[in-house]
Amino acid sequence: MRELVEQLTSTGRLDNASLKALVTQCATDDGVLQLLRDNAVRTAREQFGRGIYIRGLIELSSYCRCDCLYCGLRRSNRLAERYRLTHDEVMECCKEGYRLGFRTFVLQGGEDGTHTDKWLTELVSTMRREYPDVAITLSLGERGEESFRRLYEAGANRYLLRHEAANAQLYESLHPAGRGLQHRLDCLEALKRIGYQTGMGMMIGVKGQTIDHIVEDLQLIARMQPEMVGIGPFLPHRATPLGNEPAGDLRLVLATVAIVRLMLPKALLPSTTALATLSPTGRLEGVLSGANVVMPNLSPSDIRAKYAIYENKASWGKEAAEGVAALDAELHTIGYHIDYARGDFNLK
Ligand code: SAH
Repeated sequence: MRELVEQLTSTGRLDNASLKALVTQCATDDGVLQLLRDNAVRTAREQFGRGIYIRGLIELSSYCRCDCLYCGLRRSNRLAERYRLTHDEVMECCKEGYRLGFRTFVLQGGEDGTHTDKWLTELVSTMRREYPDVAITLSLGERGEESFRRLYEAGANRYLLRHEAANAQLYESLHPAGRGLQHRLDCLEALKRIGYQTGMGMMIGVKGQTIDHIVEDLQLIARMQPEMVGIGPFLPHRATPLGNEPAGDLRLVLATVAIVRLMLPKALLPSTTALATLSPTGRLEGVLSGANVVMPNLSPSDIRAKYAIYENKASWGKEAAEGVAALDAELHTIGYHIDYARGDFNLK
């Protein structure tokens, strides 16, 4: 098993059978998981030192036309509280975020039908004009290539669109009313073509997911070479069909993050909010598995509870933008610190 870790570290690749054996072993073997994470941390440090980039997360809307089985914002959830931020509210978030030192803003939201190209391009253009030195990241689900292009031309730089599941059957079972895996992958290809720094990723432990599925996810990520990869545990939301399912396994999340770091040494990998929600030490454990990004919440405080993709989503304290000092102090306990740079993907 140790040879597999070394092979992955030196070549960035493993075949399916080896990956499956490694992930399976990590579920129970402390020594192998630790070796994998140590190698991932070393690789991350060679690229980024001990700095962790921060991104200010602005949750644009809880309206969504999709019906993803796992998500609390799914359209069938009649109990979900819906809101959408106005143009001016978003600009207020940016003002506060910029003051706090954020140089990346992430606009994330459900697929809200009122978010036309016109409305969004006006918002992105205003952000670009008022904050010429920030990176603008969008995470607004599937749109047409023309729409992605307009938003890019308006000034967006990055787009997060997790592929959710590389296996078509698993994907269909989680998104029975969706547009299908191929459409999602086509969106990712379009985003890359246009020039976005593009993010993919998946949850660990969602219903029906096996280790073989995780191996498929990892190989797809290795093939597509995204600039960013978001991986977190599945967390149940009671008002969804998966509300009684168990949360994803911490060890498997840490193992997959570490494997992605070794496959894509330069990738920007968040230690996700879901990981911090799963475990009080999750955020630091993510960093100690090769993650190099944290995404504190910059949304207006009165709406944070309403953006409930899962329950008890951490959005206060160190997960809140106003808590960056506490976050920095926490990172210091493991010898890391916040890096306030814009933190683009580095091609060199
Ligand atoms: N509408 C956007 C943003 C979705 S929310 C889009 O389609 O990309 C961002 C991510 O949260 C999703 O990609 C999904 O992987 C994750 N997520 C949703 N529900 C979750 C849950 N119950 N537990 C953990 N992660 C979840």
